[in-house]
Amino acid sequence: MIKNIKNFKLLCVVAVIFIMLSSAPVFAEETPVIDSDMTFAEAVQNMPTPAPKNIMNSLELISVRYFSLDEKVHQGQILVRRDLVKEVQEFFRLAREHRFPIYSVIPISSPRFDWSDDKSMQANNSSGFNYRLIAGKDVLSKHAYGRAIDINPQLNPYILNGVSQPAGAVYEPGKPGVFTSNSPLVIYLKKQGWSWGGDWVSPSPQDNHHFQK
Ligand SMILES: [Zn+2]
Repeated sequence: MIKNIKNFKLLCVVAVIFIMLSSAPVFAEETPVIDSDMTFAEAVQNMPTPAPKNIMNSLELISVRYFSLDEKVHQGQILVRRDLVKEVQEFFRLAREHRFPIYSVIPISSPRFDWSDDKSMQANNSSGFNYRLIAGKDVLSKHAYGRAIDINPQLNPYILNGVSQPAGAVYEPGKPGVFTSNSPLVIYLKKQGWSWGGDWVSPSPQDNHHFQK
Protein backbone atom coordinates (compact mmCIF):
# COMPACT_ATOMS: atom_id res chain seq x y z
CA MET A 1 0.00 0.00 0.00
CA ILE A 2 2.79 2.44 1.00
CA LYS A 3 4.66 1.49 -2.14
CA ASN A 4 1.52 2.14 -4.20
CA ILE A 5 1.11 5.59 -2.63
CA LYS A 6 4.76 6.39 -3.39
CA ASN A 7 4.28 5.22 -6.96
CA PHE A 8 1.14 7.32 -7.22
CA LYS A 9 2.97 10.41 -5.93
CA LEU A 10 5.81 9.79 -8.35
CA LEU A 11 3.30 9.41 -11.18
CA CYS A 12 1.67 12.72 -10.21
CA VAL A 13 5.03 14.53 -10.18
CA VAL A 14 5.95 13.09 -13.57
CA ALA A 15 2.52 14.02 -14.94
CA VAL A 16 2.80 17.63 -13.68
CA ILE A 17 6.31 18.02 -15.13
CA PHE A 18 5.12 16.57 -18.43
CA ILE A 19 2.14 18.96 -18.57
CA MET A 20 4.38 21.96 -17.74
CA LEU A 21 6.93 21.05 -20.40
CA SER A 22 4.40 20.27 -23.08
CA SER A 23 2.12 23.24 -22.42
CA ALA A 24 4.78 25.98 -22.28
CA PRO A 25 5.65 26.10 -26.01
CA VAL A 26 2.03 25.42 -26.96
CA PHE A 27 1.00 28.45 -24.88
CA ALA A 28 3.60 30.60 -26.65
CA GLU A 29 2.38 29.32 -30.02
CA GLU A 30 -1.26 29.93 -29.10
CA THR A 31 -0.88 33.54 -28.06
CA PRO A 32 1.12 35.25 -30.80
CA VAL A 33 1.37 38.99 -31.19
CA ILE A 34 -1.00 39.71 -34.09
CA ASP A 35 0.77 41.82 -36.73
CA SER A 36 -1.89 41.30 -39.40
CA ASP A 37 -5.44 39.96 -39.40
CA MET A 38 -7.00 40.94 -42.74
CA THR A 39 -9.61 39.39 -44.98
CA PHE A 40 -8.55 38.57 -48.56
CA ALA A 41 -10.60 41.57 -49.77
CA GLU A 42 -8.70 43.87 -47.40
CA ALA A 43 -5.35 42.44 -48.48
CA VAL A 44 -6.03 43.41 -52.11
CA GLN A 45 -8.02 46.63 -51.58
CA ASN A 46 -7.19 50.01 -53.17
CA MET A 47 -4.58 48.70 -55.60
CA PRO A 48 -3.20 51.72 -57.55
CA THR A 49 -3.36 49.65 -60.77
CA PRO A 50 -5.80 46.76 -60.39
CA ALA A 51 -4.28 43.37 -61.25
CA PRO A 52 -5.98 41.27 -63.94
CA LYS A 53 -8.55 38.70 -62.83
CA ASN A 54 -6.43 35.66 -63.67
CA ILE A 55 -3.72 36.89 -61.28
CA MET A 56 -6.25 37.74 -58.55
CA ASN A 57 -7.76 34.27 -58.82
CA SER A 58 -4.34 32.63 -58.41
CA LEU A 59 -3.52 34.33 -55.11
CA GLU A 60 -3.94 33.03 -51.59
CA LEU A 61 -3.65 34.94 -48.31
CA ILE A 62 -1.93 32.79 -45.69
CA SER A 63 -1.29 33.30 -41.99
CA VAL A 64 2.29 32.71 -40.86
CA ARG A 65 4.00 32.66 -37.46
CA TYR A 66 7.53 33.80 -36.76
CA PHE A 67 9.81 34.96 -33.99
CA SER A 68 10.16 38.70 -34.40
CA LEU A 69 13.17 40.71 -33.27
CA ASP A 70 11.55 40.96 -29.81
CA GLU A 71 11.90 37.14 -29.65
CA LYS A 72 8.12 36.78 -29.25
CA VAL A 73 5.98 34.70 -31.59
CA HIS A 74 4.11 36.96 -33.99
CA GLN A 75 1.40 36.15 -36.50
CA GLY A 76 1.22 37.93 -39.81
CA GLN A 77 -0.14 37.34 -43.30
CA ILE A 78 1.36 37.11 -46.77
CA LEU A 79 -0.24 36.98 -50.21
CA VAL A 80 1.37 34.53 -52.61
CA ARG A 81 0.47 32.41 -55.60
CA ARG A 82 -1.52 29.37 -54.53
CA ASP A 83 0.97 26.85 -55.96
CA LEU A 84 3.76 28.34 -53.80
CA VAL A 85 1.83 28.28 -50.50
CA LYS A 86 3.36 25.01 -49.22
CA GLU A 87 6.92 26.19 -49.86
CA VAL A 88 6.31 29.57 -48.22
CA GLN A 89 4.73 27.86 -45.20
CA GLU A 90 7.75 25.56 -44.94
CA PHE A 91 10.05 28.61 -45.19
CA PHE A 92 8.33 30.14 -42.14
CA ARG A 93 8.36 26.82 -40.27
CA LEU A 94 12.12 26.58 -40.87
CA ALA A 95 12.56 30.19 -39.73
CA ARG A 96 10.89 29.29 -36.42
CA GLU A 97 12.95 26.11 -36.11
CA HIS A 98 16.20 28.03 -36.64
CA ARG A 99 15.00 31.00 -34.55
CA PHE A 100 15.62 33.19 -37.61
CA PRO A 101 13.83 36.44 -36.65
CA ILE A 102 11.40 38.08 -39.08
CA TYR A 103 10.33 41.57 -38.08
CA SER A 104 6.75 41.68 -39.41
CA VAL A 105 4.71 40.16 -42.24
CA ILE A 106 1.90 42.50 -43.28
CA PRO A 107 0.26 42.77 -46.73
CA ILE A 108 1.40 45.91 -48.50
CA SER A 109 -2.23 47.09 -48.85
CA SER A 110 -2.13 47.99 -45.14
CA PRO A 111 -2.82 51.74 -44.60
CA ARG A 112 0.67 51.83 -43.06
CA PHE A 113 2.19 51.18 -46.52
CA ASP A 114 -0.63 51.89 -49.00
CA TRP A 115 1.04 49.70 -51.69
CA SER A 116 4.34 51.57 -51.32
CA ASP A 117 7.28 49.20 -51.50
CA ASP A 118 9.49 51.99 -50.11
CA LYS A 119 7.31 52.43 -47.00
CA SER A 120 7.18 48.69 -46.41
CA MET A 121 10.98 48.38 -46.81
CA GLN A 122 11.60 51.33 -44.48
CA ALA A 123 9.45 49.58 -41.87
CA ASN A 124 11.52 46.37 -42.31
CA ASN A 125 8.25 44.66 -43.29
CA SER A 126 8.14 41.37 -45.21
CA SER A 127 5.61 40.88 -48.00
CA GLY A 128 4.71 38.99 -51.14
CA PHE A 129 2.20 40.09 -53.79
CA ASN A 130 2.37 43.65 -55.09
CA TYR A 131 1.10 44.52 -58.58
CA ARG A 132 4.08 46.65 -59.59
CA LEU A 133 6.94 46.96 -62.04
CA ILE A 134 10.53 45.95 -61.33
CA ALA A 135 12.24 48.97 -59.72
CA GLY A 136 13.61 51.18 -62.53
CA LYS A 137 12.23 48.99 -65.34
CA ASP A 138 9.14 48.70 -67.52
CA VAL A 139 8.60 45.02 -66.74
CA LEU A 140 6.19 43.51 -64.22
CA SER A 141 7.95 42.24 -61.11
CA LYS A 142 7.53 38.64 -59.95
CA HIS A 143 5.75 40.27 -57.00
CA ALA A 144 2.98 41.22 -59.45
CA TYR A 145 2.24 37.49 -59.87
CA GLY A 146 2.64 36.59 -56.19
CA ARG A 147 5.81 34.72 -57.18
CA ALA A 148 8.24 36.70 -54.99
CA ILE A 149 8.71 37.41 -51.31
CA ASP A 150 10.76 40.12 -49.60
CA ILE A 151 12.03 39.34 -46.08
CA ASN A 152 13.50 41.81 -43.54
CA PRO A 153 14.45 44.46 -46.15
CA GLN A 154 16.12 46.77 -43.61
CA LEU A 155 18.47 43.95 -42.63
CA ASN A 156 18.87 42.60 -46.16
CA PRO A 157 19.03 45.70 -48.38
CA TYR A 158 18.86 45.92 -52.16
CA ILE A 159 22.24 47.25 -53.31
CA LEU A 160 22.84 48.78 -56.76
CA ASN A 161 26.07 50.61 -57.64
CA GLY A 162 26.91 50.82 -53.95
CA VAL A 163 23.58 52.48 -53.08
CA SER A 164 21.26 50.68 -50.63
CA GLN A 165 17.45 50.48 -50.59
CA PRO A 166 15.87 51.12 -48.14
CA ALA A 167 18.01 54.23 -47.79
CA GLY A 168 20.68 53.92 -45.15
CA ALA A 169 20.26 50.15 -44.64
CA VAL A 170 23.51 48.28 -44.11
CA TYR A 171 24.03 44.61 -45.00
CA GLU A 172 25.77 42.94 -42.06
CA PRO A 173 26.06 39.16 -42.54
CA GLY A 174 26.07 37.37 -39.19
CA LYS A 175 23.45 39.61 -37.58
CA PRO A 176 20.12 37.96 -36.66
CA GLY A 177 17.62 38.11 -39.53
CA VAL A 178 20.31 38.55 -42.22
CA PHE A 179 20.56 36.09 -45.13
CA THR A 180 23.77 34.69 -46.58
CA SER A 181 24.27 31.89 -49.09
CA ASN A 182 24.80 29.56 -46.09
CA SER A 183 21.42 30.36 -44.46
CA PRO A 184 19.26 27.23 -44.16
CA LEU A 185 16.33 29.32 -45.43
CA VAL A 186 18.21 30.39 -48.56
CA ILE A 187 19.38 26.82 -49.15
CA TYR A 188 15.81 25.50 -48.70
CA LEU A 189 14.19 27.90 -51.19
CA LYS A 190 16.94 27.42 -53.78
CA LYS A 191 16.42 23.65 -53.55
CA GLN A 192 12.75 24.26 -54.41
CA GLY A 193 13.79 26.18 -57.54
CA TRP A 194 13.59 29.74 -56.16
CA SER A 195 16.25 32.27 -56.94
CA TRP A 196 17.73 34.48 -54.22
CA GLY A 197 18.46 38.10 -55.13
CA GLY A 198 21.56 38.01 -52.92
CA ASP A 199 23.21 35.82 -55.56
CA TRP A 200 22.67 38.36 -58.33
CA VAL A 201 25.72 40.19 -59.62
CA SER A 202 26.27 43.47 -61.46
CA PRO A 203 24.71 44.90 -63.63
CA SER A 204 21.78 43.36 -61.69
CA PRO A 205 21.26 44.67 -58.17
CA GLN A 206 22.21 42.49 -55.23
CA ASP A 207 18.68 42.12 -53.81
CA ASN A 208 19.36 40.44 -50.49
CA HIS A 209 15.76 40.44 -49.19
CA HIS A 210 14.21 39.07 -52.39
CA PHE A 211 13.29 35.49 -53.35
CA GLN A 212 11.38 34.59 -56.51
CA LYS A 213 10.19 31.53 -58.39
ZN1 LIG B 1 11.34 41.75 -54.02
